Amino acid sequence: MKHKYLFVAALLLSLSLAGVGFVKVSTGAGYDGEKKGEEEFLIVTSFYPMYIACLNIAGNCEGVTVRNLSEPQTGCLHDYQLTPEDMMMLSQADVFVVNGGGMEGFLTDAVKEYPDLKILEAGEAIFSETPETEAADEKDHGHDHGENAHVWMSIPHYMEQVSAIGRGLSEADPAHQEEYRTRTEEYLEKIQQLYQDAKKRLAGAQGRKIVLFHEAFAFLAEDYGMEIAGELDLDEERQISAQETAELLEVIREKEVGVLLAESMYGKDMGDTIQKETDCRVYYLNTLVRGEEDAASWLEGMEENIRLLEEALASEEGL
Ligand SMILES: [Zn+2]
Ligand SMILES: [Zn+2]
Repeated sequence: MKHKYLFVAALLLSLSLAGVGFVKVSTGAGYDGEKKGEEEFLIVTSFYPMYIACLNIAGNCEGVTVRNLSEPQTGCLHDYQLTPEDMMMLSQADVFVVNGGGMEGFLTDAVKEYPDLKILEAGEAIFSETPETEAADEKDHGHDHGENAHVWMSIPHYMEQVSAIGRGLSEADPAHQEEYRTRTEEYLEKIQQLYQDAKKRLAGAQGRKIVLFHEAFAFLAEDYGMEIAGELDLDEERQISAQETAELLEVIREKEVGVLLAESMYGKDMGDTIQKETDCRVYYLNTLVRGEEDAASWLEGMEENIRLLEEALASEEGL
């Protein structure tokens, strides 16, 4: 529907290509710049968890297209820079679905570039620390996540995000309102079932001490009442000092922590060290930021996390 920024985007694209010579533009899951049909409602999402949520709510809807800005394998967007293809895609988007909470660092620039772009911030209610209305007080879940924006890793928070996306899309695209509403409810129902099941299976997690190698897993601790005894954020590639390692080993030994949650992409080396040096067992969980273009993938990934967590706690009991 919006073509007014297409020219600007095309110009930027050609300028940036001219600037760096013949750089091959990746077209993996990206955008080929093809003009979308006039009737098409284009939903662009910022990264994988938002993409999967939108696939559930709007995927395969007649006359609706859901596209992900970054490739499904990009991961978290902490340092992500918009590519020329991204800009092209945003210039045609009818709504841009983002996580918020600082996850999309490029957002301020995007807003400047596309002042008319409708941005749907799925985590807005979760991140807003100062409720503007009194009614918002009730929505506030009574705690602050600081800089941690990985809220899709908490089942209740992800449900809040899914609801917000469903509401936002219905507003932005009233023609498909009924469809969005039904499908949002269906998806929420499945997530709720998983949560009920998880709470039963992980009832014993309450108060258990764990160490985290990724702040995303703090939301698992939140959901099941586990106590975070220590944390190293290995989200970005960075050097861990000998002192940090020593301190962590001390925490694990002193507090007798039996379970450590890590992500294999960044936490493998440190995980091996911990397993060698202590009795603590390392479990590699999924941060749900990359994977197949499959609507069921958040549910499946979270289910596998729950299974691993259950296994971790059971093995700890056996020590
Ligand atoms: Zn992250
Ligand atoms: Zn929370």
